Amino acid sequence: MTAFIKYQPYLPKDRVINLTLPDLLVCTICDGIAWLPVACRNCEKPFCLPCIETWKTEREDLITCPHSCSEFIQRACPPSIIHILNTLQVTCRYKTNGCAETLSYNNLEKHEKGCGYRLMTCSGCDEKIVQKDFQEHENNCALVLLTCKECMSVYQRHQQDQHTEITCLRVQLHQLRDRMTQKEKDYNDKQHALESQVNDLNQILAQISI
Ligand SMILES: [Zn+2]
Ligand SMILES: [Zn+2]
Ligand SMILES: [Zn+2]
Ligand SMILES: [Zn+2]
Ligand SMILES: [Zn+2]
Repeated sequence: MTAFIKYQPYLPKDRVINLTLPDLLVCTICDGIAWLPVACRNCEKPFCLPCIETWKTEREDLITCPHSCSEFIQRACPPSIIHILNTLQVTCRYKTNGCAETLSYNNLEKHEKGCGYRLMTCSGCDEKIVQKDFQEHENNCALVLLTCKECMSVYQRHQQDQHTEITCLRVQLHQLRDRMTQKEKDYNDKQHALESQVNDLNQILAQISI
């Protein structure tokens, strides 16, 4: 299940294009079409599972049915209601981004998870791009960061021309120099340590030979 915001219908009624029996199918908690439906054992009204879970946590001892039955006892959604739900034809939630698909109730979630009209954010320009155009955009966006494989310098795509072969070689030269300086320092430290060990040994020898 994709993001289910508290009491915001996962499936608003106006996305169903052939809704004939709304009273049977609407979850009165969120006023949307029951999603992941379960029902009240008394009145058999369906509710979204996430809606009824939230409803329950907000009540203490006695859990009343949202339809004012004296107690809510959960049961599986009656097959007759499931049957009607499965006849529903629903527009994709990404219709406003351009998706023209109509899905049946039970294919909706699968489609929306992979829909090409989901919005994704470009790592370079921060713009929202529909998923189906996203790869092409990122492959061309001037602000996307690139990493030089030779020297590991990072720059935006539009700066790529400034990272010439000479620039790259210069960076690598600096890196080599830094590495050599570090090696030299390590070498000197080690030599220092060795010298002081030799000194210590000499002192011990001198004491023994006295
Ligand atoms: Zn609901
Ligand atoms: Zn009830
Ligand atoms: Zn879609
Ligand atoms: Zn971009
Ligand atoms: Zn480079």
